[in-house]
Amino acid sequence: MDLDVKVWKRMFQELIREVKPWHTWQLTLDKSLLPNILKPGWAQYQQWTFAWFQCSLCSRNWASAQVQVLFHMHWSEGESRGQVKMRVFAQRCQKCAQPSFEVPEFTEENISRILNNLVLQILKKCYREGIKFVKSPMIKDIALKGPHNSDNCEACLQGICVQNDIATPLPAQAQPWVLSVPLVSFTVKASSSV
Ligand SMILES: [Zn+2]
Ligand SMILES: [Zn+2]
Repeated sequence: MDLDVKVWKRMFQELIREVKPWHTWQLTLDKSLLPNILKPGWAQYQQWTFAWFQCSLCSRNWASAQVQVLFHMHWSEGESRGQVKMRVFAQRCQKCAQPSFEVPEFTEENISRILNNLVLQILKKCYREGIKFVKSPMIKDIALKGPHNSDNCEACLQGICVQNDIATPLPAQAQPWVLSVPLVSFTVKASSSV
């Protein structure tokens, strides 16, 4: 089954128009997108979320809290046009002998939270707006037990799956606030306190 990208596109348009009503943004799927491989001027946002899968061979359902959704985004001031490329990493069935990779199904609530986080990242990284990024947490429908099934995770097999808590904000996100302190006065203060 393919990802229902229409829902993502519609929700993204609703959210981006709330903050940038006069700007044109487009969200498209790109199955070749890779984390940390960015074209010049592009920014990245990675989100780990909870989603459901269904095996197309045996119809078994399973859930995962380590579904990676990757976005690359770019705002072109000259063209007055913004672009978002998106990739969702797949998983495959543990029970079948030759399973194929399945695309996850997301709840509308989590799609909305992911895209809300994305729009905040666009304001911050593409428009350089000094907003404080407060990440919307993902909703887990059920409590999951046991280890992540790395052998059947597309992101793990490509070595790009981060298996940590999806709600933990990265400490690096605090850095831009430090940089806004004027360097000169910071130096003076530092030397006078010695
Ligand atoms: Zn199966
Ligand atoms: Zn994985």
